[in-house]
Amino acid sequence: MLVAHFDVDAFYASVEIRDDPTLRGKPLAVAGSSRRAVVLTASYEARPFGVRSALPLYRAREYCADLVVVPPHMEKYRGVSREIFEIFGARGFPVEGLSLDEAFVALGDLTFEDACETARAIRADVFEATQLTVSAGVASGKMVAKIASDTCKPDGFLAVVPGDEAPFLAPMPVGRLWGIGPKTQARLEGVGITRIGELAESNDSLLHELFGSWSAHVRDLARGIDTRDVEPGRETKSISSEETFEYDVRDESQLVSLLREQARDVAESLAKEDLSAQTVGVKIKRANFTVMGRQTHLAEPTRDPRRIFRAAVHCLRRTQLGGAPVRLLGLRVASLVPGAPKQAGLFEHGRPFSMVAGAPDTKGEARDA
Ligand SMILES: [Mg+2]
Repeated sequence: MLVAHFDVDAFYASVEIRDDPTLRGKPLAVAGSSRRAVVLTASYEARPFGVRSALPLYRAREYCADLVVVPPHMEKYRGVSREIFEIFGARGFPVEGLSLDEAFVALGDLTFEDACETARAIRADVFEATQLTVSAGVASGKMVAKIASDTCKPDGFLAVVPGDEAPFLAPMPVGRLWGIGPKTQARLEGVGITRIGELAESNDSLLHELFGSWSAHVRDLARGIDTRDVEPGRETKSISSEETFEYDVRDESQLVSLLREQARDVAESLAKEDLSAQTVGVKIKRANFTVMGRQTHLAEPTRDPRRIFRAAVHCLRRTQLGGAPVRLLGLRVASLVPGAPKQAGLFEHGRPFSMVAGAPDTKGEARDA
C-alpha cells in the first residue's frame, strides 16, 4: 500500500506572489502587524537569511533588512486550499488533510510506477489550476512519504522504492523521525546516536533504556516501517482565531470581548465552508510563556457565534487565570461536521450550552500549527 504526501511550497507566500508578481524574487514574509507578530510563511528568497515560520517579525527584519512583509489573507488561503484538496481527491483516493496545504493520499494497490505517475499528475494538476508548486513524496508509509517530500522541496518529487526505506533514512539526523523532539534528540546524542541509521542498528537494551515500551515502535520508525493508515475526511480539522497582544492583558473583560470577536470570526469561517463545530476551546499563552488550553464539547454542532462565544467564555473561566498577565488568546473550534446545524433540541432552551461529561481538556504545551 503506497502513500503520497503533498505539501505546497511556502503556501501563504506563494499565493501572495502569484497574486502580485512584483513580489516575485524578493525576500518575503507573510506576517501580522502587531508588535509581537511572527512570520507565518517565508518565501524561499527570505530563507537564506534565517527567516522562517514562527520567527518573531522584528527578528526577521533584523536578519533581512530588505524583507517585504505582507499581511495574511486567511480567507483567500482557505479558498485556494479547497481548490487544492479537490484536486487531491479528484481521482477517488482517500485524502487525509494535515493543514491547509498539506495532505496524505492513499494510493491503494497501485504499482510503484503507477503511484509515481499519479503523484506527478496531481502535482501538475495543482500547478495548472493554481499556479502553485506542490512537492510530493511517495513511499510505503506516511512518515517516509512526508520526509521524502520535505527533502525534495521546493517543486520536487521524490519516491522511495519499497524496501529502500531504511537506507533512505539512515544518513538523516534522528530529529527527522516522528516523535523525536529536541529533548529526545539531545538524549540520543548523549549516547552517541545522531543519525537514524545508528538508531536503527542500536541494541535492544539501549533502546529499551531510552524509550521503554516504545522501543520497538521507535526502531520500526527508524527502519522506515510505518503501518499507520491514511485517515480520510480530515481536510479541515479545526478553525481558529488567535491574537497576540501588543501588551499583556490582565483584565478578564478585555479577554471576553476579544473572544466575542473571535467567535464571530470563527462562525463566519464555518458558514463560508458550510461546516458546523461541536468542540469549542480556548488557548492562552501567559506572559511567562506557559500555554494552557481548555475545551468543551457541545451537545450539538453549531455555527452560531453566540453559542461559540458562551462556550469559549466558559472555557476561559475554567483556566482560573486569577489576573495573570496574558500575551495571547485564541479561540478554536473542532469536531467539524458538514452542513448547517439542526434546530436546537427542546431541552436545550434556556441553557447556555450543554456539555458532555468527560470531554478531555487540553493542557500543557501547544504545538505550532
Ligand atoms: Mg507547505
